[in-house]
Amino acid sequence: MRIAEELQTAAYLFASILFILSLSGLSSQTTAKRGVLYGIAGMIIAVVATILGQEVQGHIYILIAILIASIIGVVVARKVEMTAMPQLVAILHSFVGLAAVLVGIGSFVDYTEFSSNAAQTIHLVEVYIGVFIGAVTFTGSIVAWGKLEGKIASKPWNFKGLQSLNLMIFILITFLGILFCSKSVLDGGLIIGIMSVLSCFLGVSLVMAIGGGDMPVVVSMLNSYSGWAAAAAGFMLSNDLLIVTGALVGSSGAILSIHMCEAMNRSFFSVIFASGATKPQSGSKAALEGEVTSVDHENVVAHLKIANSVVIVPGYGMAVSKAQYPIYQLTQLLRDQGKQVRFAIHPVAGRLPGHMNVLLAEANVPYDIVCDMDEINQDITETDMVMVVGANDVVNPSAQDDPTSSIYGMPVIEAWKAKRVIVMKRSMSTGYAGEDNPLFYKSNVDMLYGDAKQSVEHLNAIFSR
Ligand code: NDP
Repeated sequence: MRIAEELQTAAYLFASILFILSLSGLSSQTTAKRGVLYGIAGMIIAVVATILGQEVQGHIYILIAILIASIIGVVVARKVEMTAMPQLVAILHSFVGLAAVLVGIGSFVDYTEFSSNAAQTIHLVEVYIGVFIGAVTFTGSIVAWGKLEGKIASKPWNFKGLQSLNLMIFILITFLGILFCSKSVLDGGLIIGIMSVLSCFLGVSLVMAIGGGDMPVVVSMLNSYSGWAAAAAGFMLSNDLLIVTGALVGSSGAILSIHMCEAMNRSFFSVIFASGATKPQSGSKAALEGEVTSVDHENVVAHLKIANSVVIVPGYGMAVSKAQYPIYQLTQLLRDQGKQVRFAIHPVAGRLPGHMNVLLAEANVPYDIVCDMDEINQDITETDMVMVVGANDVVNPSAQDDPTSSIYGMPVIEAWKAKRVIVMKRSMSTGYAGEDNPLFYKSNVDMLYGDAKQSVEHLNAIFSR
């Protein structure tokens, strides 16, 4: 008996170490693969050690559930496009939230003897907080999924008094929590029920109020919530590993959210409460000045041939068209001619943190020519040519000079400061934030219309002639 318990503790400890190694591996591109393998190994050990635990019964049902879930997981993961990853992540967060709600309700309904009154109160606090965080994560993640999938408009849902309403709901939830934990005359089940409904509404209203440009922060913030929800479930189930894992996910998600806010020049609280700094100033937008000019592929190659330094700015459109492979070929062609080629990566380019880095690594682009936005902005004025490949918001000058823009204040790649800029996209349509882009109207900027992959393949063919 005792040996089995000790073995489980040792397995949990080992799995926790693997999770920490996994997180540290994921911090750099060169070690990311190893980090993922540590994570997989840790999770297998965690699941096996939990199932073999003494208190666990009904192994056959658990194995059937794992089998069905694994098949669904493998099918979905194989099918999902890289561009749809954020939606998948968001919907997976909603499962964690729902699991925390169910564990909370289950452990409340399940009668347990407590050694003291204090122990029972602590248990009730765990249940209440777990169900609260779980419910907010559950509905918030579903709304985030809807916005990223385009099922719900990405425009912020905001009406006068929304924030006061959210605050009142939060105060009511806190008040009900005090009644619940002090075992007042009110039925605990009823309180949990009312609180769950209120928390579900809070999840919806918090995420609905956040605009498209701030969605990256929401995704990582929900990741953090799902971690705290899992940690709360760990407390309810007295499972140390779940507490450690939840805390790791919760804190790393929170740190990532803060870093992303810094990268976007947003205050963390103004993003999560959709207040103040995220709201564009009212007023009429300045008319777009200048004329849009377009070029053909021959012309772009002619410019590339005389350029000494080239910066490529990838964006969501590169991911959609899978242009990273021909872009790597173009990079090789240019480097073979002794030209300097670098990639400029904006922290929120694409639809999930690190999206561009993953795609470029997949196409074998060397890490040392993949640079941060700040590094490129430093000497962009000396760059002969910038090629914007399916990016839009991340190169929008309105972020610097139009206070009415929803992305005002967000640092951007200052592509317009280069000697010549080619923007490769299919039309004049806006990016995710829904803002017009004055870059396209500048005199040193030309549009090369068409699908990014086809365009780059065409350029490569002309270049190699
Ligand atoms: P944008 O969404 O601003 O722009 C992408 C552009 O790609 C579009 O304007 C589109 O123009 C073009 N495009 C689409 N398909 C193709 C294609 N096949 N070939 C060529 N071009 C194509 O992307 P950015 O990467 O510049 O910015 C990311 C935006 O997404 C930011 O607003 C960011 O806040 C937000 N976001 C980021 C997340 C993250 O974590 N990174 C998560 C959620 C949102 P056209 O239709 O004319 O071709």
